[in-house]
Amino acid sequence: MSQLFRRNRPRASAEPPTPVVAASTGVVCTLPGCSNDTAQPCAYRDGRGRACGAAYCPEHGVSAGGKFYCRRHAGVVRAVGSEATPSGGLPDIDNRAPSLVSWVARDLDANVRRLLSGAARAGESVIADETVHVARDFNRKARWEQSWWLVDHTGVILKVTIQVLEENDTLVRVHVGSGVIADGVPPWIVRRTEETDMATDTAQRQRFYQWLDESIFMAVDRFRTERQRAS
Ligand SMILES: [Zn+2]
Ligand SMILES: [Zn+2]
Repeated sequence: MSQLFRRNRPRASAEPPTPVVAASTGVVCTLPGCSNDTAQPCAYRDGRGRACGAAYCPEHGVSAGGKFYCRRHAGVVRAVGSEATPSGGLPDIDNRAPSLVSWVARDLDANVRRLLSGAARAGESVIADETVHVARDFNRKARWEQSWWLVDHTGVILKVTIQVLEENDTLVRVHVGSGVIADGVPPWIVRRTEETDMATDTAQRQRFYQWLDESIFMAVDRFRTERQRAS
């Protein structure tokens, strides 16, 4: 009743409700094709104190933990969490390894958990990393990793790891058990310099993840089959 009354009442102020618009900062967004002049600089500072030069509008940047970042560095901050790297501070501004691991791990997470749960026997469970971790080989070269484990009370039964080396930060490697079962450069990195429409972009992304999913599925399945044969 009162609803109807209100609706029919002439509006005191004739202005339509205006969406909240970010104030101009006089800085144009770094994203190609975006002409918003509401950009703010990315707040990222790496372990050597270097700043990121990018500035994005609120629509294309990301707020995280009270700070504003470009998408990539928001990914890095999210990926490594509050954990400092062994050298102290956050990864180098131009290193995409940690965020790449994080993106891929997040997209594969549900599937990997499902596969490992499917391979589990009584008394075994699945645990997973919350963030990306850095590890170093004997030459002190860094690699970024995020893992899932099938474990029982005696320890690790099977481990799945997404890994990107710092020195080759476009190549994603997937380990299942002791071997690399798949590696590849994601299509969104390959075509960085090319023009592609959104539909192609989405299709390529889907194919990439489907391929990774299938590779992991086959490796886990092989593990399970061999295990059954052995028992
Ligand atoms: Zn923008
Ligand atoms: Zn940045």
